[in-house]
Amino acid sequence: MRSPVPDYLQEVLDDLAHNRDGVVADYIPELAAADPDVFGIALTTVDGRTHVAGDADLAFSIQSISKPFAYAAAIIDRGLEAVEAKVGVEPSGEAFNELSLEGETRRPKNPMINAGAITAHHLLVGAAARPEERVERARSFFSELAGRDLGIDESVFSSELDTADRNLSIAHMLRNYGIIDAPAHDVVEGYTRQCSIEVTVRDLSLMGATLANGGVHPCSGRRVLSRAVARQTMSVMAGCGMYDAAGRWLTTVGIPAKSGVAGGLLGALPGQCGIAVLSPRLDDHGNSVRGVEAFRRMSADMGMHLVDAEPYDATVVRDVYVVDDATVFVIQGTIQFGGAESILHAFESDDTATPAAVVDATRIDHLSDVGRRMLLEGLRRLRLDGRRVVLVDPDTVLPEPDLDHDGMRPDAVVDDLTMIGG
Ligand code: GLN
Repeated sequence: MRSPVPDYLQEVLDDLAHNRDGVVADYIPELAAADPDVFGIALTTVDGRTHVAGDADLAFSIQSISKPFAYAAAIIDRGLEAVEAKVGVEPSGEAFNELSLEGETRRPKNPMINAGAITAHHLLVGAAARPEERVERARSFFSELAGRDLGIDESVFSSELDTADRNLSIAHMLRNYGIIDAPAHDVVEGYTRQCSIEVTVRDLSLMGATLANGGVHPCSGRRVLSRAVARQTMSVMAGCGMYDAAGRWLTTVGIPAKSGVAGGLLGALPGQCGIAVLSPRLDDHGNSVRGVEAFRRMSADMGMHLVDAEPYDATVVRDVYVVDDATVFVIQGTIQFGGAESILHAFESDDTATPAAVVDATRIDHLSDVGRRMLLEGLRRLRLDGRRVVLVDPDTVLPEPDLDHDGMRPDAVVDDLTMIGG
């Protein structure tokens, strides 16, 4: 069988191809020359499968989609505290190139607008970094995320630098307030190179999937960023990634995202996939018109809105039954807080009063950290109630079950129910 997913992506493109609203960015002369009709899409799952349709291998400049990744690299290089001292996380409600800073601290409001992104670029590597080291840090980090060596589009770079007066004035203002200390021109030059890194939607979907996968690259299996940095980055994308359209985006699409003026749009759906669209005509906010429509459509069709969580935790306790002198609790699925709470509720409401409580963990797919801690605490309390506690755990989903952090173990850990003994 051939997967229907690429057919679905093609259908999204076909349905939106007639939409010629919006205009190609022209404040960067080289971008004005782009073919406005190109349209491509790529989706990479957290387990590393990529599906594409349309112009999926066409290179374009990453532009502002570089911002979340440079922010992530700055946090890796300098630590979250040092980065937050210089750039905030609040939605600005303003255009991407607004000359705005927070009232008291003079920090840029967030790293997704140019002021914050120029600051994040300046933080790359370390205080004494040379301009070319910052650019190489961004290029090599993005390359690792994309899984191939990315280059810089020099003609887009020089075209933007020639007309970069607005970003230069932002950088001068940042320097005036002590947010950056390197020469304004060097920082804008480096930031502009970072924006000129060439990608395809296929690359971007892999970069997004790495964020969605909590920082582990879906193909190489390598940890490229920590879970905490991936979470910070996607959170800022959710709040600020679409500039002054961020609120509408969150209510209608609900996927952490970032747009760029070359027409790219990247979404990272936590735990599921990265999705990227290319279509160069932009709306008044500087976001790709067909890109936004494609995301709206996919979010609605495929139930991708972040807030639309499925109540799968409710079915975590599959069965409770008594056999001989034991009560068996059969647990299944992925266990997060909600699921762990229902397991504890099953323990609490058990009135069988059998001498043994058996937890059959055979069908558990995944225990989150909180799921593991709450389950262990439940086993500890069963033990304190005087029950013999047996864990059936053939796949070791609960390795070294230390119930009280002091070496208290279940009375037995066995591979299958026939071994629960007495
Ligand atoms: N390089 C562009 C700029 O700084 C990026 C802006 C964008 O993609 N929104 O103006």
